[in-house]
Amino acid sequence: MVVIYPGSFDPVTYGHIDIINRCAKKFDKVIVSVLNNSSKKNMFTVDERMDLLKKVLENYDNVEIDSFNGLLVDYAKKKNCSLIVRGLRAVSDFEYEMQMALVNKKLAKDIETIYMVAQGEYSYLSSSIVKEVATFGGDISCFVPKVVEKALREKIKGGQG
Ligand code: ADP
Repeated sequence: MVVIYPGSFDPVTYGHIDIINRCAKKFDKVIVSVLNNSSKKNMFTVDERMDLLKKVLENYDNVEIDSFNGLLVDYAKKKNCSLIVRGLRAVSDFEYEMQMALVNKKLAKDIETIYMVAQGEYSYLSSSIVKEVATFGGDISCFVPKVVEKALREKIKGGQG
């Protein structure tokens, strides 16, 4: 069984990696797909986000890194996949996730969205908070892998943060 894990991944954190790791154990294949959404202001380009994902997930042979734009359900059909996985951190994630899942269900009734509950230690972690801490020079080594930390530092130094 193949599952799609979509998101912004701007940038990938240990919270995302935990979800991917758990999915990779339960499913035959995990397609981690970066949403190319030009209306959202991201720090990293889609290519940079994919590149970081590829680097931190290089040891998984059943994880594919991809990107998409447009409707997730159309992308899922194109990939011949009827299962979408999302992570749930707190109650605050719930309302948006519920809305998305119901809309997607209306658009494509054969596609199911399933949720993985974030591990306690990552339940406070988001890409936004990591970027904020990094911008102010804080230690982010327990939130993201080294390669992501380095990329963040370079972005911020280059004034693109
Ligand atoms: P989006 O912009 O789609 O919310 P994100 O990259 O922020 O993209 O997150 C992608 C998915 O990963 C979402 O389902 C989100 O809830 C989940 N996620 C993000 N951070 C964590 C975390 N720390 N633990 C578990 N799931 C997470």
